[in-house]
Amino acid sequence: MCWLLIFKAMDKIKTIHPRKPISKRIRFEIFKRDSFTCQYCGKAAPDVILEVDHVEPVSKGGKTVMLNLVTSCFKCNRGKSNVKLSDTTIVEKQKKSLIELNEKHEQLKMLLKWRSGLLNIENKELQASQNAWAQATSYHLNELGVSGIKKLLKLYGLRSVLDSMDIVVKYLEYKDDKVTKESVEVAFKKLKGVCYIRSLPEDKRKEYQALGSLKITMRYKYRNFDEQWASIYINRFIKAGHTIDQLKEIIEKSKSYYDWQDEIQSYI
Ligand SMILES: [Zn+2]
Repeated sequence: MCWLLIFKAMDKIKTIHPRKPISKRIRFEIFKRDSFTCQYCGKAAPDVILEVDHVEPVSKGGKTVMLNLVTSCFKCNRGKSNVKLSDTTIVEKQKKSLIELNEKHEQLKMLLKWRSGLLNIENKELQASQNAWAQATSYHLNELGVSGIKKLLKLYGLRSVLDSMDIVVKYLEYKDDKVTKESVEVAFKKLKGVCYIRSLPEDKRKEYQALGSLKITMRYKYRNFDEQWASIYINRFIKAGHTIDQLKEIIEKSKSYYDWQDEIQSYI
């Protein structure tokens, strides 16, 4: 029993090499760090065969650690090359590149963490918006709607999107106590514009709001009111330097939509 243990111990000692072979993984790390280039002569793979060299030789107590390892071509490793670098240069260079490598690694880790964090927030915001929409309209957004909301969130942020939803719900119409699908579509189409207007500076926003309420007035006043065309006329009217008060006056004195059209066209 006792002998058996001793044999086993001896067997173990035999297998311990005086020079531990460098693992494939370490070799790859060293090559990557040194850009697959011999650090003595600057020749690179695949022009030369690369090896991993101990800066401080193993025979002098050099260890198999990243800092003591360097990429060397076959020739340089056997001292056949003319070019020599002092040991300190190599060690300095290695230290520097190791620090850079660690830094890169750390930064990559941070970047990935940051990205996944952002993605998490984005998903949560999207979910919150989808829920808010479903709650307000009793309709779920389809794929197109979700991607539309995604864009709005990116452009204007969650707060603005939710506030704008509160505004566009006034376009919802009911039939038999149920929100109509058409009105939900109208409300959704308005969402983008409302988000945009809310992002404008105060005075511009007031102008839009005033124009919006004038259009509502027109819709009630004129039977054959065409909002799309009216908007085009109004835009031209404002661009020509006329004021909202002037527009209001024109609406007040025009009895029909055609009157209004004739009147406004004389200004633009
Ligand atoms: Zn070399």
